[in-house]
Amino acid sequence: MAAGGSTQQRRREMAAASAAAISGAGRCRLSKIGATRRPPPARVRVAVRLRPFVDGTAGASDPPCVRGMDSCSLEIANWRNHQETLKYQFDAFYGERSTQQDIYAGSVQPILRHLLEGQNASVLAYGPTGAGKTHTMLGSPEQPGVIPRALMDLLQLTREEGAEGRPWALSVTMSYLEIYQEKVLDLLDPASGDLVIREDCRGNILIPGLSQKPISSFADFERHFLPASRNRTVGATRLNQRSSRSHAVLLVKVDQRERLAPFRQREGKLYLIDLAGSEDNRRTGNKGLRLKESGAINTSLFVLGKVVDALNQGLPRVPYRDSKLTRLLQDSLGGSAHSILIANIAPERRFYLDTVSALNFAARSKEVINRPFTNESLQPHALGPVKLSQKELLGPPEAKRARGPEEEEIGSPEPMAAPASASQKLSPLQKLSSMDPAMLERLLSLDRLLASQGSQGAPLLSTPKRERMVLMKTVEEKDLEIERLKTKQKELEAKMLAQKAEEKENHCPTMLRPLSHRTVTGAKPLKKAVVMPLQLRAGSIPKCRDPHPEE
Ligand code: ADP
Ligand code: MG
Repeated sequence: MAAGGSTQQRRREMAAASAAAISGAGRCRLSKIGATRRPPPARVRVAVRLRPFVDGTAGASDPPCVRGMDSCSLEIANWRNHQETLKYQFDAFYGERSTQQDIYAGSVQPILRHLLEGQNASVLAYGPTGAGKTHTMLGSPEQPGVIPRALMDLLQLTREEGAEGRPWALSVTMSYLEIYQEKVLDLLDPASGDLVIREDCRGNILIPGLSQKPISSFADFERHFLPASRNRTVGATRLNQRSSRSHAVLLVKVDQRERLAPFRQREGKLYLIDLAGSEDNRRTGNKGLRLKESGAINTSLFVLGKVVDALNQGLPRVPYRDSKLTRLLQDSLGGSAHSILIANIAPERRFYLDTVSALNFAARSKEVINRPFTNESLQPHALGPVKLSQKELLGPPEAKRARGPEEEEIGSPEPMAAPASASQKLSPLQKLSSMDPAMLERLLSLDRLLASQGSQGAPLLSTPKRERMVLMKTVEEKDLEIERLKTKQKELEAKMLAQKAEEKENHCPTMLRPLSHRTVTGAKPLKKAVVMPLQLRAGSIPKCRDPHPEE
């Protein structure tokens, strides 16, 4: 299954290039810093998780049709030839004994840090209904899955990185939606109806009108997420397994604003997706509404497969727009995201064909290359201090629904989450930055200078607040000293002028010339004794020699 050879390599390059072109990366050169340079590719990582038998018959009457070989590979019986097995290799294989923590720590946690770099990340659970997608993503209170673990860590990370005195102010928001029968439904606001998916000029995918809730703690997250999940569960009961027929997408956005010049801003998006069941519904004998649902699901997942193939083969057109799911995943597959696909499979023989098809899909996904880039731009009011308006503190206003996506993304900053109210106050550093931008500019240049000299120490702007204050004070003192020296120099120049005039009067020419190219102020020669530069000392100057020969 592993890709190899130069053809594969070229395909990957082409796939990534076409993905970048289609996603629009680089179209807004001014608004996306660094978009002009091609970022290094990041492969979509693929993990497979085999769940244990869940009915207690653990292989006695129904031996498993699939088994793990090592931490990356597995084999499955070949139905065409019972003497053979089909072998697959992935980035990771998690066997039936693996824990929720194993999957999280091994495949999900490592990509979270990219969000703080302003890059996107996504986690997709794929596989047939009953194979363990929801268990992997959501889990249970006893065995929490990827979603609660990722949220817990991400909120902790943003609290630390965005603490007062740190260079960036951070905020987190969440949205939760499902795609059901090609309709995008807001699970945080079920009355809102079908929403449209748009793309801004930077290639970012957006859904205007989608609720976006600020969250600063895990309790905040639960407050929004649990009722929304119950909405979905109620639907499932009423519609007989609706949840397995819809794609559930949790979107977590991390916004960052630089507290000091040059006041950059970044946005990193994390998609956590529990995909609809990948089973072949022709075999399940669905009729009526079930069949209609199945058709829609199959369209989405079928297009997902086509998108993956197009990316793999470097085709000029990638059919993202052919389904809502792939349109939404445009910046998660072959686009700007660090992606991990977790293919869930079941050991029971009745799952055999669905397991083979899930493994084949996962093997194709492994070939997709993403090119992560940093979503970074300057804040609209870059020269002003970071200050949150009342509107921002309250979260996204209702009026936001009426706004266009470009306006949302570019014209005005995304609403900041409402973290602890104390942290909303301007830090001493922010106050200082608004008072003296010139000094901050000096500090930044000093920082750059240190970096260019390969300084081993931490950059100034990431030193602890107290040390930074001390450094800033030192810079301030140096400025005063420079001012004092300048005044002294002007005084000396004035004195030289006076001396020359006196010499002229006494008809004794001297080669000491005033510094004519400098502006001489009306400073008077000093009355009291001062330490003069050597060449100005009366006794030490040979009368007819120029101590400053013309250069
Ligand atoms: P899916 O979302 O793919 O339809 P579920 O996550 O609902 O599948 O899993 C089906 C059943 O299997 C559930 O009862 C779930 O608790 C159980 N299950 C799935 N994966 C595991 C696992 N790794 N360990 C224990 N039980 C699991
Ligand atoms: Mg499920």
